[in-house]
Amino acid sequence: MTTEDPAVTLLRDYLRIKSVHPNPDYDSCVTLLKGQAETIGLDYQVTELVKGKPILIMSWMGYEPHLPTILLNSHMDVVPVSEECWKYGPFEAVKEPNGDIFARGIQDMKSVGIQYIEAVRGLKEQGKRLKRTIHICFVPDEELGGIDGMGKYVSSPDFKKLNVGMALDEGLGTLDEEIPVYFTERNPFVVKFHCSGNPGHGSLFIENTAAAKVQYMINKMLKFRQEQKKLFDEDPKKALGNVTTVNMTFMSGGLQMNVVPNELCIGFDIRVSPTHNIVEFQKMLENWMEEAGGGIRMEFVYKFLNQSVTSVSPDDPWYQAFQLGVQAHKLKVTPQVLCAVTDSRYLREVDIPVLGFSPMIHTPVLAHDHDEFLNESIFLRGIEIYKDIITELASV
Ligand code: ZN
Repeated sequence: MTTEDPAVTLLRDYLRIKSVHPNPDYDSCVTLLKGQAETIGLDYQVTELVKGKPILIMSWMGYEPHLPTILLNSHMDVVPVSEECWKYGPFEAVKEPNGDIFARGIQDMKSVGIQYIEAVRGLKEQGKRLKRTIHICFVPDEELGGIDGMGKYVSSPDFKKLNVGMALDEGLGTLDEEIPVYFTERNPFVVKFHCSGNPGHGSLFIENTAAAKVQYMINKMLKFRQEQKKLFDEDPKKALGNVTTVNMTFMSGGLQMNVVPNELCIGFDIRVSPTHNIVEFQKMLENWMEEAGGGIRMEFVYKFLNQSVTSVSPDDPWYQAFQLGVQAHKLKVTPQVLCAVTDSRYLREVDIPVLGFSPMIHTPVLAHDHDEFLNESIFLRGIEIYKDIITELASV
């Protein structure tokens, strides 16, 4: 039996902690990770802005500590599983003879958290000292929208003290060696339209009903959806992040079958692409509400309005440094808009450039899916990639 790389063993230990919603075991994560900080000799701090939801920061001081620092962010929590659909227990971290490790969260994004730690450990063991301070950050609740995690953390005094100049966060895998790097995300815009109209007897031709307004709004929304889908389908180079998706996800109302109701409600999950100005987008919806005959109230279930974009211009010093690190491994990166959301949006909202990147080459995207896996050799190669990226970023 060949002995396992200690980095892989650590990853598997981390994967076995059930930091799964709805009751994630954050305490065990923090205990395991703190232990690593102590072994490596990194300062660490645990902040609990919301009880039971710790944020752990490990810091490797640079030799010019007054300079803006580099933040390596990952979240500790994972999404729930349909256990019966997995070939192994999703919290057993079973490794097949070819090195594939199966576990919830191995792609999203516990492998990245451990890669950060191992990269810093490796650099320290090589006797390296970097110019800028590196902070490795472990946050809770990303999978619930990050509201009690990074969402609160970015405006806390503890976060401001970190003096972050640039951050890395999660990305997605790729089947080849061209890794996507995410420089922004679409904005979630989740709304309900409460449509009111004239009520009355179900046997009459009532005018100006809630149903007529619902019909108008649905037609407008689904037509817009069709246009966006067409743009996406017609251009194979277009990533999903470059178009706005619309899905009708909610419908409610009615009192009794012979009563025309005075209100009906419909809801949409919309993800606004950065190619649409979100203020103008909202105005467009408000215009439709007027055109429908008025009497419609828009309720925001969730909206995120900041549309900051991180520079991926060839002359941007952070992006240049990032690319140098990746190119050292003969890999290519393609800048993309992420179709989903991550904690990066909170960092970008406070004007910190963030690149979303996970070095998972030759790997199908299985985040939130059954049988989520990553091969140990890809994981170990990722540590080497991060060593170079971190070194380059810290030298800017
Ligand atoms: Zn994630």
